[in-house]
Amino acid sequence: MAQETSRNVGPVVLLGAPGAGKGTQAKRIVARYSIPQISTGDLLRDHVARATDLGRIAKDIMARGELVPDDLTYDMVAQRLRQVDCEPGFVLDGFPRTAPQAGWLDAFLENEFFDNSKRGKCLPVVIQINVNYNELLHRLAGRRTCPTCGRIYNVHLQSPRVADTCDVDGSRLIIRDDDRCEVVEARLKAYELQTKPVADYYWSRGRLLTANGDLPVDEVTAQIFRAIENHAAGSGKS
Ligand code: AMP
Repeated sequence: MAQETSRNVGPVVLLGAPGAGKGTQAKRIVARYSIPQISTGDLLRDHVARATDLGRIAKDIMARGELVPDDLTYDMVAQRLRQVDCEPGFVLDGFPRTAPQAGWLDAFLENEFFDNSKRGKCLPVVIQINVNYNELLHRLAGRRTCPTCGRIYNVHLQSPRVADTCDVDGSRLIIRDDDRCEVVEARLKAYELQTKPVADYYWSRGRLLTANGDLPVDEVTAQIFRAIENHAAGSGKS
């Protein structure tokens, strides 16, 4: 897929249940527009690995498949978005996950980004990837992760060349704590209860775009690129 290097696309928010393909699509957006991917799951896992104050609190919550309290995520996200590599835009993966987080993000962007001419006056383009429930369960149950490089495989959809072994570095693949069967259903339930209001938040403001995540992955990507480019061309600017 061709790379576009000079386009300032602004903030991109991807919504969708766990397993909807947000991570995969985020990586494709990153490659095309040369903007960073900000995954709150990755940021939190990093805090857990470094045993920071936040990491110590988040560890058990994440292992149970629940959401970390909103106010604990704000400083972590703000610090990351203030970094210079976010100026042309960034892809948020896994944030906002609750309506208060969505409200916080709009306020943060208005306060900090709208005053900074380099970053442009642009609220996020918000794209929800919709996938049917049984397909989500099937995808999540097959997810395997490389503990060394973080690459994600799927035994049904995107298996490694050698079973249980990372193609990149040969590490033995693991099932992440939050991909275990008993946790998967809790994650989908938490999504239903807590994250749907995020879609409602944007929908009620006329800002929710959707992509059909049941289509082949390249077609989903094409839908998403079109949405981002239309937004950057001015249709979604405020
Ligand atoms: P993910 O890698 O996006 O599936 O996130 C893994 C776990 O990190 C989630 O199950 C939550 O426990 C936690 N998490 C990630 N992002 C958020 C967020 N925006 N708000 C609260 N908890 C989060």
